[in-house]
Amino acid sequence: MLRIVVVGGGAAGLELVTRLGRNKRHEVMLIEPSSHHFWKPRLHEIAAGTFDAELDSVSYFQHAECNGYTHIQDAMTGLNRDTKTISLRGTMNNETTLQYDHLVMAVGAVSNDFQTPGVSEHCLFLDSSGQAQKAWQHVKQQLKATGTRHISIVGAGATGVELAAELAKVSRKLQRYRQASEFKITLIEAAERVLPGSPECMSNKVKTALEKQGITVLTNTRVQRADAGKLVTSENEIISADLQIWAAGIKCAEWLTKLDGLETNRLNQLIVKSTLQSSLDNSIFVIGDNAQCTQPDGSFVPPRAQAANQAATHLAKQFNRLLKNKPLQPFIYHDGGMVVAVGHDNAVGTLMNNKLVLKGSLIRNLYDTIFRLHQRVLFSWGRVTALVVLKRIKCMLNPYYKGF
Ligand SMILES: Cc1cc2nc3c(=O)[nH]c(=O)nc-3n(C[C@H](O)[C@H](O)[C@H](O)COP(=O)(O)OP(=O)(O)OC[C@H]3O[C@@H](n4cnc5c(N)ncnc54)[C@H](O)[C@@H]3O)c2cc1C
Repeated sequence: MLRIVVVGGGAAGLELVTRLGRNKRHEVMLIEPSSHHFWKPRLHEIAAGTFDAELDSVSYFQHAECNGYTHIQDAMTGLNRDTKTISLRGTMNNETTLQYDHLVMAVGAVSNDFQTPGVSEHCLFLDSSGQAQKAWQHVKQQLKATGTRHISIVGAGATGVELAAELAKVSRKLQRYRQASEFKITLIEAAERVLPGSPECMSNKVKTALEKQGITVLTNTRVQRADAGKLVTSENEIISADLQIWAAGIKCAEWLTKLDGLETNRLNQLIVKSTLQSSLDNSIFVIGDNAQCTQPDGSFVPPRAQAANQAATHLAKQFNRLLKNKPLQPFIYHDGGMVVAVGHDNAVGTLMNNKLVLKGSLIRNLYDTIFRLHQRVLFSWGRVTALVVLKRIKCMLNPYYKGF
């Protein structure tokens, strides 16, 4: 049996080990430092106190036991390609090594502060469940304060847009029940429109939906410095806030550039061939946000949840082909459109190759379905249905916000 070691149990890695583990044709190991999996596109709900951790998170240990793979709760720190070993750091800071036959890197990406001075000290981030929980502690303080509180969010990609809308909704809801503070939210984007990577028509609909919720949207505005309680733009304009959250750009961790000579780009992503194999080593595969994968038209596979899911499905099939000594097929990404939540009961999405842009509560259901499809890979339909029903009942009985 060949040993496949997958590093990172996020959108890509967890789906891959689930598929491979159930297959029982390989020995499958997942290296993931966290104890629980949270689907990253929902981290803004943790930061806004509306996430139901009981129903919507996954225990790696339990999931591994039920799906035929081993979870090692360590972080990868290094690679030796000659001996085919990776270095690991455990929860007690103990160092070990682990041998692989095939290695899959799926450690994702984090937001990019573009080395803007003061950002790491004075802004919160939303790159992991831990950071999202930290952000929620700060948001909670602001909700409990009286009067008007100002929140600045830098970056109007999916993360910034979804966070701004969710926070606006929570603040409105809480004001109805008690004397919570009113949030004035400013969303700041350097490009000329929100969701710069989406069709213009979608950007306009999202901007209108945000403004209807009282959110101030500043486009063509580049932050050049962050200080305590204020952001300074390249035009030297000052945007004061009680809370500042940075949700702009992506880049990968610095340690990926030191992996025994593997090729990386300026965002520290590992460069792969069309087969998802690292450009320099055929026994190393890279999937998800930490891969730079070029498509036949010269474009790159985007850092999105659906691209991570597609790559995991593709690679699971390729490992079966390897067993049969068949050649590997190239990974072709199919853009299934984009759906962005703008509050708990509204979303905007593009369908049919970006020809159709729709918004409303039905599209919000479609947004939820994307998460349910991810859960469907991890569990059976029966369990996913039970989770949906349980969530509906809990939502009827409990308040919309969970953590106040
Ligand atoms: C708030 C938010 C909202 C988003 N909304 C959307 C959206 O609406 N639509 C969309 O398509 N995309 C969205 N995204 C992007 C999407 O979440 C990512 O594209 C997707 O999660 C990438 O999957 P991945 O498996 O590559 O990485 P991740 O899902 O980030 O998983 C990486 C995993 O690697 C682990 N890891 C990190 N370092 C190590 C290490 N040293 N050793 C071992 N393990 C390690 C991490 O703990 C993590 O579990 C959003 C992202 C955020 C943050």
